[in-house]
Amino acid sequence: YEALVRRVAQELAAHAGDIVILAHVDPDGDALGSCLGLQRALRAAGKRAQTYMRLPQYLEFLPQDGEVLDELHAWPEDALLVVLDVDNNDARRVQGADLGRFTGRVINVDHHGTNVRRADVSLVDPTQAATAGMVADIADVLLAQAGAAWTPDIATPLLTGLNTDTGSFRFANTTPAVLRQAAVLVERGAQLAWINDRLSQNPPRYFALLKEVLGSMTFSHGGLIVTARVDSDMLARASAEWDDVESYVNTIRSARGTELACLFKDYGTHVKVSLRSRGRVSAQNIAVTLGGGGHFPAAGATVQAAFPEVQAAFDAAASAELARVGLNG
Ligand code: 5GP
Ligand code: MN
Ligand code: MN
Repeated sequence: YEALVRRVAQELAAHAGDIVILAHVDPDGDALGSCLGLQRALRAAGKRAQTYMRLPQYLEFLPQDGEVLDELHAWPEDALLVVLDVDNNDARRVQGADLGRFTGRVINVDHHGTNVRRADVSLVDPTQAATAGMVADIADVLLAQAGAAWTPDIATPLLTGLNTDTGSFRFANTTPAVLRQAAVLVERGAQLAWINDRLSQNPPRYFALLKEVLGSMTFSHGGLIVTARVDSDMLARASAEWDDVESYVNTIRSARGTELACLFKDYGTHVKVSLRSRGRVSAQNIAVTLGGGGHFPAAGATVQAAFPEVQAAFDAAASAELARVGLNG
């Protein structure tokens, strides 16, 4: 791991042209935090770096105005591409630019167990809680080599990524190493309370939609699985958007007695399935069966089919996974 971290830092430091930074569709705190932390560290080291990402409203507090751009329209000459927090650097999972038109080198830094390692350099470590922690290790090398100092600006987005991917340091991936790394980021000026305060501000429409989504909550498989569903009619009634839906799966996840929570985001043409496990069943196994990916406790899939079909496929995959671990649903 350390050797690959140095190799990625070296390649970034040696690149004279533009460095383009991208992350996954539906970006989360780790996706944005990793990109913004790397961008700021690279700029502090004297490099040209730019993140492209359409921000969900709940993450808009993190970058300065104009720091993150929506979409790259034309690839700069001699660009180096860094893809962060994505298990598959293809057009379906990466947002912000047309990957089909890019012919340069790709560096992928990621912590998904389902990573396909298709980049020129893949720094992939599924034992890491967040990509942001890996970027912090890269930033250490970059800044030291450039003779530049850590600043609160660099530390804050990286702590945000560690924070969101560990459920605010509550999930099983909160290892001693994660807590130590978080402590160092706090020493470098990242403000954990501020980050959590800004992350936990929901607009009224969030609650209007939550009411409807909770109304759809269903227990199945002998009470071991809790599901809920949201579609565009529900969004319209609450004047809400798909971004508002992000954390609902964590809300239903707190249902006592369940081993798995599943939120179906029914877009009509396709369904996004968000899965969260309590640690006995693998959310990743179910997601992979449905054509997606992720981590053991948190995974997802995008299925190009109508809801009833996706629900049936989920039921079958979940039953198989419950049986595999000796649970009778
Ligand atoms: P979420 O449920 O928060 O959207 O995603 C949970 C985890 O599953 C994340 O690590 C995310 O990258 C992964 N994931 C979600 N949807 C998909 C998908 O459609 N395909 C793949 N490969 N991974 C996904
Ligand atoms: Mn992510
Ligand atoms: Mn992540």
